[in-house]
Formats: sequence, structure tokens, C-alpha cells
Amino acid sequence: MFQIDKPLPAVTEEGAGYWEGCRQGELRVQRCAACHRLRWPPSILCPHCLAEGGEWVRLSGRGRIYSFIVVHRPQHPAFFDDAPYNVAIIELEEGIRLHSTIRDCPNDELSIGMPVEVVFDRVNDEVTLPRFRPRR
Ligand SMILES: [Zn+2]
Repeated sequence: MFQIDKPLPAVTEEGAGYWEGCRQGELRVQRCAACHRLRWPPSILCPHCLAEGGEWVRLSGRGRIYSFIVVHRPQHPAFFDDAPYNVAIIELEEGIRLHSTIRDCPNDELSIGMPVEVVFDRVNDEVTLPRFRPRR
């Protein structure tokens, strides 16, 4: 049977620390060495002060649904069997917003502001995807 694989994120040099964290079950972002602000998405230069460098820090993994949609007609054939599925923007406690999906919850029970926590789904040796589930 013909099968189309789902596209996966490209693990770039700037984002390597993020993906390493996901593989270890931690949500991580860069913190600027100069101004100490969190940096998302990963980048070589701080968007606030333009300094290079920084460290990877672990986030709480807790947040709330900032927004979401339910996809009924996927544009990519690899997702046809998943529909309907949700795509959500999660606002983490640290103020960073991530795109992900909510699992372990029916789509019609999702709501803006719902407390969620990160969970990790291993895809292959390189990519582990952060997803979220309701926090009760
Ligand atoms: Zn900075």
C-alpha cells in the first residue's frame, strides 16, 4: 500500500538544544546570556538585545490554551486519517506561545484558557514532539 509520511520539523543547529530537551522529556528554551530574557523561537541572536549566546533552560511545561482550531479537511494527505484533529496555540506559564496539539481530550471539550501540561511523543531517534493534555 502506498503511504505518505507526515512531514517532520527540521532539526537545525539553532534548535538542537530544544530537540535534545524534547528527547529527554523536557521543554527547553534559550535564555539570553546578556539580558536574561527567554528566546523563542531558537535563534543565534537575541531579538531583544542582539547579543549572541545563551543557555538552554527548562520550562515548567504548564500553560493554557491560547487558541485552537479543529481541522476537518487536511491539506496534506498524510493527515487525512487523523481528521478531525486539533491544532492549538499554548501559552506557557513563562509567556512563550507554542503551536502544538492537545491529546487525551475530545475536540468538542477543548476551550480557550484550559490548563494543559506538556507530554512527549517520540517519532524517531531525532524527533520527539511536544504535545499537551488537559491539566486537572
Ligand atoms: Zn538579550
